Amino acid sequence: MKVGFHISIAESIDQAVDVAVAMKCGVFQIFTRNPRGWSFQPLNLKEVTRFRKKIEEHGIKPVFDHMPYLPNLASTREEVYLRSTLSLKAELNRCSELGIPFLVTHLGSHLGAGKIGGLKRLISAINDALNETKSNVTIILENTAGTKNSMGSSFEDIKHVVDGVEDLKRIGVCFDTCHGFAAGYDLRSDEAVAKTIRLFNNILGLEKLKLVHLNDSKGDLGSGIDRHEHIGLGRIGDKGFRSILHSDLVKLPLIMETPVDDRRNDFDNLCKVRELAK
Ligand SMILES: [Zn+2]
Ligand SMILES: [Zn+2]
Repeated sequence: MKVGFHISIAESIDQAVDVAVAMKCGVFQIFTRNPRGWSFQPLNLKEVTRFRKKIEEHGIKPVFDHMPYLPNLASTREEVYLRSTLSLKAELNRCSELGIPFLVTHLGSHLGAGKIGGLKRLISAINDALNETKSNVTIILENTAGTKNSMGSSFEDIKHVVDGVEDLKRIGVCFDTCHGFAAGYDLRSDEAVAKTIRLFNNILGLEKLKLVHLNDSKGDLGSGIDRHEHIGLGRIGDKGFRSILHSDLVKLPLIMETPVDDRRNDFDNLCKVRELAK
């Protein structure tokens, strides 16, 4: 089982690898820059070299990069849309520099203008970005919780986007358990998990699934609420995670984006996952 976390790069990009090693992660995810702004500095070449070297040395692979928060690849506002596609290209290039094979992105929000147009803009942004970045970096579409105007909460919508992408080798999917549950895909028992996986396979094909974001959910089934909880302490619960951790999903990289608070830290959640997977 390959399990790990989203790790902060507060110190430097290569230090994220040290944290992953210290916590015995088999895999991890980062932002390559401050996710809360539009602007960013080019990568520091020394850090890039150290990052690549440490990844090789410790064999922690694959690493996943997550898109920053502000870009909206489905925006109806021309300026935001252009900036967002530029961010996507820049992030694909940063992945390629760092030797990161996967870039995770949400599908964006249509801002009330309608899903059809939003999906169209998103598909064209992805095709543009893939055409203009010659590398093997794959874009991973993450399912969302179904919060107002956000796209990609259903497997059908994600499939619609995948079908619109020209370079099929460079597109994959991430299933976030919190988002999926909040969007109405039950995960609280063996049967429910099996049914959700079956649906995914029928609509998207399991070969498209490259990553699982392992998060419990504060919101209830179908609530549309995107609030992550510690593994087992949310509405999916211990029983649900035991089922998830005994399903085909464990063949995939599992990355937690769980909170850190006075109840638990990342390492506690890692122990919890290992215990439930037994
Ligand atoms: Zn996620
Ligand atoms: Zn979330």
